[in-house]
Amino acid sequence: MLVLGTTNEGKVRELLELLEPHGVGCRSLAGLAGAVEVEETGATFAENAALKAAAQAVAVGAWVLAEDSGLVVPALGGAPGVLSARFSGAQGDRRTVDACNSQLLLERLRGAVDRAAHYACHAALADPGGRIVATSSGTCHGVLAEAPRGVGGFGYDPLFIVPEYQRTFGEIPAAVKGIVSHRGRALRGILPAILRLVVAPR
Ligand code: IMP
Repeated sequence: MLVLGTTNEGKVRELLELLEPHGVGCRSLAGLAGAVEVEETGATFAENAALKAAAQAVAVGAWVLAEDSGLVVPALGGAPGVLSARFSGAQGDRRTVDACNSQLLLERLRGAVDRAAHYACHAALADPGGRIVATSSGTCHGVLAEAPRGVGGFGYDPLFIVPEYQRTFGEIPAAVKGIVSHRGRALRGILPAILRLVVAPR
């Protein structure tokens, strides 16, 4: 059994959709005995992914796949970056926080000509002893819309236009997001290690 080192429902849904077709039995941290809150003190997505995977693996005594991800906007000097989840400082349920973060992003970009952005995702697999045994990463480039479009995905998705489709991740079917997204790419990079070490170890 692989534990997904997150309680973010949007991430869990996407990770399950990507892993289940490969026969990977997994569950999220929600309601799992021993799971801890891991402070994301790293300066990079890679550091935070490794921190989360290692700490949760030791805490729950199982294989853990964790990822750290976020939105990078060059016109804002790379913000919100590793602070994507906490950009606005808003508290509350995930929907409220996502809406406040998106609102702040729109305000910061008001009048900007350069609206390019990319999502980044770093994944880390830890064994039950907390050792990181595999890592991978993925990016997805796009352009930020001037107002939200669509209700799919989570986080900044209704603002993130995928150039090939001329639609936001809020408007694109989940299965398509899984193919082109930062998370899909990072997951496909680490999948061979999951299959070899967790699903069918020798
Ligand atoms: P983390 O839990 O620190 O990795 O936070 C990730 C944050 O980045 C999320 O809360 C979102 O704000 C943003 N994010 C990451 N991936 C996505 C995505 O696929 N769609 C929309 N927002 C995302």
